[in-house]
Amino acid sequence: MASLSEKAMAVYAILLKTYGEIPLKPRREPMHELISTMLSHRTTQANEAQAYERMWQHFGSWEAIRDAPVDKLAEAITPATFPEAKAPNIKKALSKIIEERGEPNIDFLRDLPVEEGFSWLTALPGVGIKTASLVLLFCFARPIIPVDTHVHRVSGRLGLIPAKMSAEAAHDALLELLPPDPHVLFNFHIAMLKHGQRICTFNAPKCPKCPLKELCDYYQQVVKKG
Ligand code: SF4
Repeated sequence: MASLSEKAMAVYAILLKTYGEIPLKPRREPMHELISTMLSHRTTQANEAQAYERMWQHFGSWEAIRDAPVDKLAEAITPATFPEAKAPNIKKALSKIIEERGEPNIDFLRDLPVEEGFSWLTALPGVGIKTASLVLLFCFARPIIPVDTHVHRVSGRLGLIPAKMSAEAAHDALLELLPPDPHVLFNFHIAMLKHGQRICTFNAPKCPKCPLKELCDYYQQVVKKG
């Protein structure tokens, strides 16, 4: 393999064949995406959706959520993990957005250079690199890649990034390997996520069934030799 970029594109081609290619279309409106992603940390998709729905049933508007007593908001989002930490962050993030923008709306990020949008989002309380990247890519088709636990683990095993590289550093390293095309970055993210959930699982990767094994450092250096 001539370069890591070529390897990344070879991985991408196999992943697309395996999991298919999907259009990059916003799945939720930006405020929904932002707050749901804040709720989603270490939480299943079903519980995240339930927490979001309960929050809206209880309070009914972003302003009411911002003004809610923190313990009541924590109670409403309890299907999510760490509600006592997430509730104050959501309230503070909403206060900052409404104060700065005059309304609960982050659509202005569509027209900002990606680095500026990223800095603005990560300055919000409780918003990290993954959440900011997800909002920018999924809602506004900006060229950025969210690195969640699956993308991070699979990239490390394949050898696209050093095995011990942090998820934060992996974000920049993967961006350098892939073309700055939001459609590619989106499909790479989605396919790596599916691969991490179905084949390259945390405890017991199913290497013999894996279509990436010929390209995979972990398979070549550990499984094959073991
Ligand atoms: S060969 Fe094994 S370790 Fe490598 S990507 Fe596939 S499942 Fe993961």
